[in-house]
Amino acid sequence: MNEYDSNRIYDTVKKIGYNKTENYEEANCYLLNTCHIRDKAKEKVYHEIGRVKKIFRFKKKPLVIIAGCVAQAENDEMLRREPYIDLVIGPQSYHKINDTILNYIEKKEKIEQTEFDPFSKFDYLSKIKNESGKVSSFLTIQEGCDKFCHFCVVPYTRGPEYSRPFNQIVDEAKYLVENGTKEIILLGQNVNAYENEKFRLSDLILEIEKIPEVERVRYTTSHPKDMTEDLIDIYKYTKKLMPLIHLPVQSGSNKILKAMNRKHTIEDYLEIFDKLKEINPNIEFSSDFIIGYPGEDDKDFNDTLNLIKRIKFINSYSFIFSPRPGTVAADLELIDKKILTERLDKVQNLLFENQMIMNKSLENKYLNVLVENLTDDGTQVFGRSEYMTSVIFNGKKSDIGKIKKIKIEQSNRSTLFGEKTNNSNQKVA
Ligand code: SF4
Repeated sequence: MNEYDSNRIYDTVKKIGYNKTENYEEANCYLLNTCHIRDKAKEKVYHEIGRVKKIFRFKKKPLVIIAGCVAQAENDEMLRREPYIDLVIGPQSYHKINDTILNYIEKKEKIEQTEFDPFSKFDYLSKIKNESGKVSSFLTIQEGCDKFCHFCVVPYTRGPEYSRPFNQIVDEAKYLVENGTKEIILLGQNVNAYENEKFRLSDLILEIEKIPEVERVRYTTSHPKDMTEDLIDIYKYTKKLMPLIHLPVQSGSNKILKAMNRKHTIEDYLEIFDKLKEINPNIEFSSDFIIGYPGEDDKDFNDTLNLIKRIKFINSYSFIFSPRPGTVAADLELIDKKILTERLDKVQNLLFENQMIMNKSLENKYLNVLVENLTDDGTQVFGRSEYMTSVIFNGKKSDIGKIKKIKIEQSNRSTLFGEKTNNSNQKVA
């Protein structure tokens, strides 16, 4: 979502004459769009500002703006703690960035903009074209969260759930497509909680699928509680929705899920899994795991390992629990570090093994790959399989934006390597 937000901020500030530079030592404005999810997010921001200060020590000071969720969480404290920062803008206020900058230039008034106003943000942004124009583009449809998992800052930094108007999203999708987008990734902190008037996420997916130039649709991140029947049902007839579902489970233990306030059980999760597999056995799952949540004992941890073995997740993310200030879990007693590291290793080894097995099974098979770009050295092209796995093959620049049938020759854990094929009769895996 930060990538989407950064692009929209750029689309906005262009209107008052700012351009991106690769050579940021020459920048006259330095904007840091921050994320609060990872460990020590706040300290990393101050550290980064320290770096900028050094770079500009003998030069004219740039205008320094902190945007994103750290800005939201810290607000005016940032201006007090680090005088080098000029403006602080939260994720629901960045549509006001041009006025804020112009006001600063005129009056040198340092301010923080951190009120929650997603309605006026998206209303404003719908009038500013999304010009990211990548083969695969993000499109935010929903923001915020009402679930209040005990470990998570999102409800405090992004505010309550808000779903954008249906037509506004479809218009943005059409505009992205006019600029070359072939794959649309619908985004939201609780993307499948999308609800605007009578429309749900399933309606939105089916509407976007109707745009002829759209080849693929994905959505992320979902909550198990919002995997409603209408959403599960569209997998029966969708033509463009990809068969990889990112559905965070966090833990395999009901005791820990309850302690986390996740509002779903393992049985709920398995029911969703079984229903989707019955509709299409080729659907695969990826997930997020928090290892060592306070109170996790050996049995809880083994439940997580067993769940991974049962579902055979691919492309999952796993992290050791780390407390976030202001959350319910912030002051709970932490598990011993050595145990945490051992548990994380075990989980990651199992997840990596699943990935290796999956990728190995694709060798000598044919896959449809949506080509996104040239590789860094420009000699090959890079794209993604239906399961989001990177595929590198001997393509040309003219393949970018097209779906190519590729024979997979080799694999490692994260990447498949293949050859373009002219044999259109080969069945795709
Ligand atoms: S549902 Fe997701 S975004 Fe909401 S509180 Fe839980 S982890 Fe955070």
